[in-house]
Amino acid sequence: MRFEEVPCESTMLCADKIEMKALINFYLNEASKEDKDKLYSAARHIRDVNDGPRVFLRGLIEFSSFCRNDCFYCGLCSTNRNAVRYRMSAQEILETIEEGYKLGFRSFVLQSGEDPYYFSGRLTEIVSESKRQFPNIAVTLSVGVLDPVLYLELFRAGADRFLLRHETADENHFAKLHDASQHFSLRKESLESMKQIGYQIGAGFMVGSPFQNVDTLTEDFLFLRSLAPHMVGMGPFRPHQDTIFSRFPQGSAEDTLVLTALCRLMLPKVMLPVTTALASCDIKYRTDAFRAGANVMMPCLTPQKYRDSYAIYDGKLSSLSEAAENVVQIKAQILTEGLRAEMSRGDHFDFRD
Ligand code: SF4
Repeated sequence: MRFEEVPCESTMLCADKIEMKALINFYLNEASKEDKDKLYSAARHIRDVNDGPRVFLRGLIEFSSFCRNDCFYCGLCSTNRNAVRYRMSAQEILETIEEGYKLGFRSFVLQSGEDPYYFSGRLTEIVSESKRQFPNIAVTLSVGVLDPVLYLELFRAGADRFLLRHETADENHFAKLHDASQHFSLRKESLESMKQIGYQIGAGFMVGSPFQNVDTLTEDFLFLRSLAPHMVGMGPFRPHQDTIFSRFPQGSAEDTLVLTALCRLMLPKVMLPVTTALASCDIKYRTDAFRAGANVMMPCLTPQKYRDSYAIYDGKLSSLSEAAENVVQIKAQILTEGLRAEMSRGDHFDFRD
């Protein structure tokens, strides 16, 4: 099926499963360069009209490379004996936040593998202490699936946002990517319960993950539409040499741009990051993602000595144009795209005063 017109928000919101699949299939597999350019232009316009031509910067701190899970695509999976494991202490994390604060960041993402070491009070203390020392920052957690009680405890300690990629909304596909202890339904329930608690929530998935197809992507879009998260992270699958998916091909950067634009049209106010995975394919895709409607970037604040050890895929970019210490150059580059770099808390539209 050919789509002469770029779909608007109501088309995306009203599309049934068959229509959504046709739309995704067209833009991924049949659209001309001109069709895609029109799509990107519409997505860019929707972003600018709804939330201004700006990019929100968040400092990313990868504080632990330990993980109890075995996601078959990830270099930090528990079965990878070659992975270098580290944990940052509470003091190190707070000092890193302070460094970022001095650079101008007011939004921080604390990310780790699913590491129970922090779950019995340590992470709660880190969050509450960071909010005590820096009351005007926003704290986003990206630490995996937790006991439901912990979501509330961390929210009460001051966590503002929680990123938990669902990875695929198709149960069969999910089972092909993860060990048997993990289920899509658990991630879905976690996201829904965090939304109820009051978090700004983020979902998302890899583009081009093994066994992904237009049907599974359709499920992803229908799931995102019903969940209506505040953030959606999409990055191309990139293999890691020590995983069972090491020989699978990398996901397509161009498909990532197409899906980013479609997501912007479906959820006009959503925060859409340019992922490091996309920039790691080629730095030029970062600019392309801004042109396709993305509006968030998360420069790496992780201390230098740990950066290479947070190896979730091969060839991950964590220096130069992805490094928080180069924020001046990052802001300058954003400006050349006609966009403004925002270092504020960067809340989702619905969470601002
Ligand atoms: S993707 Fe996350 S939960 Fe899965 S193995 Fe990697 S760090 Fe752990």
